[in-house]
Amino acid sequence: MGRILAAAVVGLLLGPLLRAQVFTHTVPAGEPWRHGCPHCQARLHSAFLPPTGRCPRCRARIGPPPALVEVVAAAALAVVAWRVREPLPLLAVAWVALFGVVLAHVDATVRRLPDRLTFPAAGGALVLFGLSAVVDGEYGHLASAVACALALAAFYLVLVLISPNGMGLGDAKAALAVGLVAGWFGWGIAVAAAVAGFLLAGLYAAALLLLRRAGRKDHIAHGPFLLLGGLVAIALLAV
Ligand SMILES: [Zn+2]
Repeated sequence: MGRILAAAVVGLLLGPLLRAQVFTHTVPAGEPWRHGCPHCQARLHSAFLPPTGRCPRCRARIGPPPALVEVVAAAALAVVAWRVREPLPLLAVAWVALFGVVLAHVDATVRRLPDRLTFPAAGGALVLFGLSAVVDGEYGHLASAVACALALAAFYLVLVLISPNGMGLGDAKAALAVGLVAGWFGWGIAVAAAVAGFLLAGLYAAALLLLRRAGRKDHIAHGPFLLLGGLVAIALLAV
């Protein structure tokens, strides 16, 4: 219980950093990264934005809603600490979870998953998992992780080729990180992550249709569900 609580506190404390990263990267493709307040043009610190969701200078509403990023980060890290015991794999999964929080917010708002976030997410996890394999002299989990990362990314790549309007290359790149963390725990967990992602996306689309908030033609960003699917798969791990 103590470690889960500690992980949640770390998530809350990292929230303002993640919030600043969400703000910086929430721009349409082709536009420069955002470093200033759109209302008062004050240059904002890229490592900190207050959880109030307001510009520290002019108090205008900017970025994600108050406390949302902080609460999501705390919940994600709590799930990871609940299920993953080994220190280095725990760090690897937490690393992807934190990038995932930023990516999900950015994709939900501007429907893109920037390379600047997806590649470090997968790269950092690969280094940490690699370190864990070297320390333990046990390479089975690492091989499974890499194979699942490539398989899940290839699967999404096929979907992008079939239906370029439904998915983007960013989804395939984010799938690298999700496949890596789920695949470390085995093929079954990676498959569970992928299935959970599509189930959650389907449920959300159905709910929007029922509530008449969206039509059949409306495009819903898939990234948040892909990432959430990975977290669900981690939650399903046996302790
Ligand atoms: Zn401002």
